[in-house]
Parts: sequence; C-alpha cells; structure tokens
Amino acid sequence: MVVGAGYAGLAAAHALNKAGLDFVVLEAASRPGGRIRNYLPSTGEYDVVSDSAVEVGGTFVSPSHTALLTFAADFGVPPFNTSRRVRPLLDGARVTEPADAYPWWYWGVDTESSMGSSVLHTQDGTVTFSTPQQLRSQLKGRPVFVELEAAGKVMETSIAPLSCEAADDLWPDFDGITFEGWIRQHVQHEEGRNVLRAMCRGMIAQEPAQVSFLSTAKSLKGCWSAGDDDQYRMRGGSQAPLLAATKALGASKVRLRSAVRSIRALSGAEGAAHGGRMAEEPLEEAKKKIKPRYEVSTADGGVWHARYVIATGSPPALLGISMPASLPSADAQLLQRMPMGESAKLFFFYTSAWWRAEGLSANVLATDGYTACMDHSAYDATNGGAALMCWLEGATNLAFFDAPNATKVREDVLTFLQTSLNGDKRVRAYTSHVALNWPDDKFARGAYTGFFTPGVQSQPHFWGAFARSEKMPGLFVAGADYYAGLGNGYMEGAVRSGEAAAATCVQRMAMRS
Ligand SMILES: Cc1cc2nc3c(=O)[nH]c(=O)nc-3n(C[C@H](O)[C@H](O)[C@H](O)COP(=O)(O)OP(=O)(O)OC[C@H]3O[C@@H](n4cnc5c(N)ncnc54)[C@H](O)[C@@H]3O)c2cc1C
Repeated sequence: MVVGAGYAGLAAAHALNKAGLDFVVLEAASRPGGRIRNYLPSTGEYDVVSDSAVEVGGTFVSPSHTALLTFAADFGVPPFNTSRRVRPLLDGARVTEPADAYPWWYWGVDTESSMGSSVLHTQDGTVTFSTPQQLRSQLKGRPVFVELEAAGKVMETSIAPLSCEAADDLWPDFDGITFEGWIRQHVQHEEGRNVLRAMCRGMIAQEPAQVSFLSTAKSLKGCWSAGDDDQYRMRGGSQAPLLAATKALGASKVRLRSAVRSIRALSGAEGAAHGGRMAEEPLEEAKKKIKPRYEVSTADGGVWHARYVIATGSPPALLGISMPASLPSADAQLLQRMPMGESAKLFFFYTSAWWRAEGLSANVLATDGYTACMDHSAYDATNGGAALMCWLEGATNLAFFDAPNATKVREDVLTFLQTSLNGDKRVRAYTSHVALNWPDDKFARGAYTGFFTPGVQSQPHFWGAFARSEKMPGLFVAGADYYAGLGNGYMEGAVRSGEAAAATCVQRMAMRS
C-alpha cells in the first residue's frame, strides 16, 4: 500500500510495479503530483502536459539528481538545459564557472534567460550585471558588501569541518541558534542582514529567525543537493512524469480522491482473519500465506489491508493521519517539529518574452528583501507561456496573502517589476496572472519542505527517527521531507526515499518466496 501520489509515492509504485508486486496507491487529491503542478496559461488549466505549461510548484533539476532524471526518462520525459552554462546534457561533469563565481549570498537564478542583464536593487541604487564578475566589480568597496564578503569567509571556515550525516561536536553549537542569530552576530549593516534574510527565503522559504543555523550550514555546504540546482527543467513540465506514471499504472492502481484517515496495526489474529485481501503478493499461491499487518482506512469508507505501507506526504499531512498507537514516540514527536515553509510563485503571462529582445533577463533581486523575480517562461514561450514570476516566501508570502486588498499587493509587485525592467509599460500588459499558495494546499500545508527549527537535528533520537524510514515492521515513511541522503527537500529526495522503501519491500517479499 502506498499513500500519496507525489514523486515519492509514484517512484515507490513504479519500483513495485517493475518488481511485479501487487500494490495500490491511495491519493487524497483529485490529481497526482503533490507539490508539483503544471499550469497552462493559454487555457487556465492545471495538471496538463505541454511544452507551453509552466510549473507552479517544484521545477528545477540538478545534474546530480540522477534518480529523478532516470524516473522521468522511464516515462519518456527528457530534461532541457536552462542553464547558461551550456554543456552537454547529463554529462555528469561538475562546473564551477560561472555559478560559483557569484557572491556566496547571491540567490538569484543562473538560467539561460539570465544571459541578459540582471538587476540588484540596493539602498545606494540599482546595479545591473550580466556576469558574476560584473556584479562583484560593481559592489566592490561598498561597506555592506565588504562586510558580507567577510561574513562569507567566516561561514566558509565554520562549515568546512561540518559533517552532513553524523552528529559531530559542531552540531549542538550550530543547532543552538537560528540563522537569524548567526546573521546578527556576524553582520552589522541592516541592509546586509536583509540580503541574508532574502537568501534564507530563497533556500528554505522561511524567515531565518525560525530556521536552525545547522540547517542553513548544511544547505550551504551542499548536504542536501550537489549544486547547479537550476541546470535543467523537464519537457512538458515537471508534473509530466507523474501524470504519465498515473496513466501507465491505471485507475485501479492509483486511486485518486482517496484520503487516508488512519493506519492501524493489526494483531496477529486480525491479520490471519484478513489474509484474503492483500495488496502486494507476487504469486497467487503466496497470497494464502502472507498475512497483512496494517489496516488502512480512507475518508470515503474504504478499508484496505496490507503487509507493507509506504506513507508519503509532508509532515503536516502525515500528522493528519491517525498512525498506529505503537509508532515510536520520537517519530510522532519529530513530525510535530517539522513545520513547512511558506512559498508561492506569482506569475504574469505575456504573448511574448519581450524583455529578452531588450537584453533584459528579468532576473531581479532587492536588498530590502521584498521580493525576487525571474523569467519563468514555458519551454515554448510563444503560446502564451512567456512569463515573469516573482517569489512570495516567508514573511513576504504572509504579507501578500494576508493583505486585505489583493489587487493592491499585486500592483505593488508589478510596480517593482516595471521599475526593474527600465520602466517598460509592457510589464502591465499581461494577459493573465496566477499564484497558487502552497500553505493553502490542504494536502501539503506549505512548501518547499519541512524544515528544522533549532534543537531538533542535534537531538540524537530525532536525528535517528529522521534517518530511519521504516518506523515499525513494514511501515515506511518516505518523501522529500525525510532523510534521503542527497536531495532532501527536492524532487530527487522524494524519488530516492520512495524507491528505497519500495526496494526494501521487494527484498523482503523475495526472501519469503
Ligand atoms: C513553489 C515550490 C517550488 C519548488 N521548487 C523546487 C525545485 O525547483 N526543485 C525541486 O527539486 N524541488 C522543488 N520543490 C520541492 C518539491 O516540489 C518537493 O520536495 C517534492 O515534490 C515533494 O514530493 P513528495 O512526494 O515527498 O511529497 P508531495 O509532493 O507532498 O506528495 C505527497 C502526496 O501525498 C498526498 N497526501 C497527503 N496526505 C494524504 C492522505 N491523508 N491520504 C492520501 N494522500 C495524501 C498529497 O496529496 C500528495 O499528492 C518546490 C516546491 C514548491 C511548492
């Protein structure tokens, strides 16, 4: 039994299917994808596979995200190169130029469309640049950025000995403060502090006052992803592999609108009594021998029995499921200690990407931390898919969606964009706009991922619970929010942990036959 049809759940299902096991995916929403969603601006439809679609959720893929790229390839979805660091697709090589040449605090994009001039609004005026070197030379000698460089050196030295995996002596120190605490200790200029606050919003979709410094340090060290995060996107949109997988598996295997309400551990006698209704036996004759261990109930009254359950979903989503009473307390407690970030993308769509012809990348950052914007056009930008997109994250997200006047706040963003794009009036000539606020999605309750507040990761019981996917015999928790080695918080982490849980089930079943 698999709960959830996001990347983790469908990667698990695909692996079980390849191994020839019987299974069912129960998905609460009326669509597969979870925190991944395509949107077709020309029709206003969601969940459509098209080169003219944009992604309102997860989008970018690093070359190191090989599990995700392989899963997408299995469903005929190729990546396309969005990076200006032009190089053969999937060559496996690491590049250091020019992305690594940006200042350490720079959290703008490095996509192909950013070949044109980018904009950084500072308190001393606006800086335009097309290369990291130009950005550096324009900021040279300005006290705020000199101080940020010095803080960057301190950061580099402190995170060098940090271990990603095993708790070391640094963990309690780093986990004892928030990133805001570190910022206040090492940066005195308020503008410099705001730059790092905006960086934190870009990294974790959350304010640094909420995030453990240990988490920030791990992100900067590359513990969760091996860089070049914006190298690729997927043809047809990042929901394309998930829609294709759902279609290939069929409606009897992926059951939409099936919200799981409870997972109950069956006693031995109950398991024996339910021996006839299973979801994962490989062979007809094995069916009689294998006893289910869990009863899974759905909101529509469905009751399922399974020997293995792979539960995916954000921590708040899993907290909404009544779990077995014998779930280890460290796991139950950990889920309560992993809040979600606040993230939304505000898109404005145009009939053409007119800014490109003006030599503008539309890559805009501001040191007051209000917002950051980029060219987020579809692969094919000619069919209404030309898009300017501004991130609404952390406090910016709350301010935007809590504002009494939605038109006014949208106007404010447009004014910011227009000022950034040389006052061009075409900014206001958009054909439509859209913003899906992930904290409002009742099955995710936030994005990009569950994050750590101070004092959680360095507590060995919580780290142990985070790192252990199998919570009770045969009950797995998988997904981007949980430990996956590389790719935590990313689509990659979701695929890896879903596949790993499925592999264990396959192995156990093989041992039985
Ligand atoms: C705005 C935004 C930008 C992002 N950018 C990127 C990016 O550029 N690159 C990247 O790699 N990642 C990005 N991410 C993160 C990425 O989208 C997620 O990490 C990943 O999609 C999570 O996959 P998952 O399968 O673990 O969880 P989910 O996608 O949340 O899937 C869980 C599924 O379980 C279902 N579910 C929940 N509760 C129940 C229940 N009770 N019963 C049945 N089903 C249930 C949900 O409906 C959902 O379909 C971004 C996310 C957002 C929102």
